[in-house]
Amino acid sequence: MKSRIHLLPETLTHRIAAGEVVERPASIVKELVENAVDAGATEITVELEQGGCGLIRVTDNGGGINAEDVSLAFARHATSKISEFDDLYRVRSFGFRGEALASIASISRTELVSRTPDVLAGVRIIVEAGEILEITEAGCPVGTTVTVSRIFDSVPVRKKFLKAETTERAYCLDVITRMALANSDVRIRVLAKGRELFSYPATHRLAERIALVLGSGDADRMQPIESSRDGLRIYGFASRPDFTCATTRQIYAFVNRRYVKDYLLNHAVMTAYRRVIEPRRYPAVVLYVDPDPADVDVNVHPAKLEVRFRQPRLVYETIVEALSSMLRDVGPFSSGLLPA
Ligand code: ADP
Ligand code: MG
Repeated sequence: MKSRIHLLPETLTHRIAAGEVVERPASIVKELVENAVDAGATEITVELEQGGCGLIRVTDNGGGINAEDVSLAFARHATSKISEFDDLYRVRSFGFRGEALASIASISRTELVSRTPDVLAGVRIIVEAGEILEITEAGCPVGTTVTVSRIFDSVPVRKKFLKAETTERAYCLDVITRMALANSDVRIRVLAKGRELFSYPATHRLAERIALVLGSGDADRMQPIESSRDGLRIYGFASRPDFTCATTRQIYAFVNRRYVKDYLLNHAVMTAYRRVIEPRRYPAVVLYVDPDPADVDVNVHPAKLEVRFRQPRLVYETIVEALSSMLRDVGPFSSGLLPA
């Protein structure tokens, strides 16, 4: 017999939707660190237990959340970052979908402690598997700490799909690396098992942050790149032709500080390098693409990993131009290959 159609209970639809945003512990790290940056934090600490599979805690010194708003922060589609559709094309924040906290809390136990600068006492909220368990007053410094544990306990299937702790930990550290490259003005610390794994001091010098994140050995073999056209600014650092890598993993691209995996950007990079490095070798590039927010659509993908440009050609050509001009300037080419 055919079943009757019925609406699913909300807790279930939330858990289903959460799958889009929260694929693995690293997705939680990404969303929490993005929220911290959006809150104007200048210091962010990330703590990981069992590679992020046991516990993830992100502490920031940003603007905090009002006690009155704290339960709303966990409601689906509740955000302080946009209010109308057109805001999507003005947004400079990482978030705007109002989904992350709701999704994370629907598949874990999430505790958020927060205080805004204008009040003396902060607030604590605990949400487990989508249900608010308590909201109480809490003493805490200005800013927000979100602690996520029992990750995927309510979604056993997802839990089974997690890889070894060391792999999940590597994914988490990848996310932090990208956030560190995109936000050099924020101090970022990472703790594991109570010990500091690394700490990047805030700096206004991008080169300094890149050297810390990628290691000075690599950074020393990279050159600044820069090019602007029609309201689009491209900048960053890219390897000289004598420094190549076996994979594309050292190519980082950011669009308005958002890390993206974009075919167009990678293709532009490879076009610039094709004639100066050997086949199946790849450059190291930290590429920042800053278009006017109105010229890029970030709302194509729930995790916002893909973007669409209004003028893809302009973006493509400006990148090729920025890289080619650096490659032309740095010659002679020690690899022995001829320049473009
Ligand atoms: P989004 O970031 O898309 O708005 P989230 O679910 O990530 O959605 O967060 C919901 C809201 O909670 C945010 O719009 C913001 O107002 C608030 N919030 C979340 N994290 C923080 C934080 N670390 N500091 C201050 N406010 C926060
Ligand atoms: Mg967010």
